[in-house]
Amino acid sequence: MQLLNLPIISKFYKKRNPNSHKGTHGHALLIAGSTDKMGAAIIASKACLRSGVGLLTVAFYPENKSVLFNSIPEAMYANSCVMNDLSLYQAIGIGPGIGVDEISLQYIYELYENKIPVVFDADALNLISKYKIDWNNFNFPFVLTPHPKEFDRLFGEHDSESERRITAIQKAAALNCVIVLKGHKTFITDGIHTFENTTGNSGLAKGGSGDALTGMITSFLAQGYTTLESAILGVYLHGLAADITLQMQSEESMLITDVIENIGLAFK
Ligand code: AMP
Ligand code: MG
Repeated sequence: MQLLNLPIISKFYKKRNPNSHKGTHGHALLIAGSTDKMGAAIIASKACLRSGVGLLTVAFYPENKSVLFNSIPEAMYANSCVMNDLSLYQAIGIGPGIGVDEISLQYIYELYENKIPVVFDADALNLISKYKIDWNNFNFPFVLTPHPKEFDRLFGEHDSESERRITAIQKAAALNCVIVLKGHKTFITDGIHTFENTTGNSGLAKGGSGDALTGMITSFLAQGYTTLESAILGVYLHGLAADITLQMQSEESMLITDVIENIGLAFK
């Protein structure tokens, strides 16, 4: 297992080309939020935009456009009931705040014909567990970002973190995906390589932190990084931004929106 550090990131991090335009940096689709959980969509969207994506469209149902436009004028909106042309996008992030009812289940079905990389988080993972979705329906590269409870819902109860890590390696190999097992020292595996994160702090132990990570990983996928590179970059920079936030805030006072504002310093 490798500890995640700057030399590992530096091997694959691509500096932005001075001649680039928004098309160069990809178009991400985030399927996030619902009537009572628009915060999740806003957090994921802000973190996605702060991580370098060229264009972002956010899809949710029911329609709640004004909340999005008032908080994030940079984002575009798609009614999630008619998001039938997924070929417009280079990456999809799905799950934060979408709920686990049959309406949200449709989002999962809509992905069956898809070919572009997907991050499954939060309620998308819970939908897969609840409705026992067959992994064979997913014929595209994907990243799973469960916290321990979501992980156990997907893959069965575990008694310890070390047992979860063993299962994560086996499942990532069997499903041909990347698994990000979140926690104090987030574990990342593609079934062959394994990494343990070294950034982040308990100021992240609050609602919304995972939603920001989903936005970041989706952003990196849209920019052309592989699933493993995107997971590594997202996890490392998310934690580093939280560590930088500690210079102005305490673990208690830190908000995920503060952390998102420091993603820029984390890049630097
Ligand atoms: P979620 O539970 O989906 O909101 O995700 C929480 C996020 O915050 C994950 O990226 C965790 O790795 C991170 N996190 C939560 N608690 C801690 C902690 N005590 N130390 C470091 N990172 C944490
Ligand atoms: Mg979460």
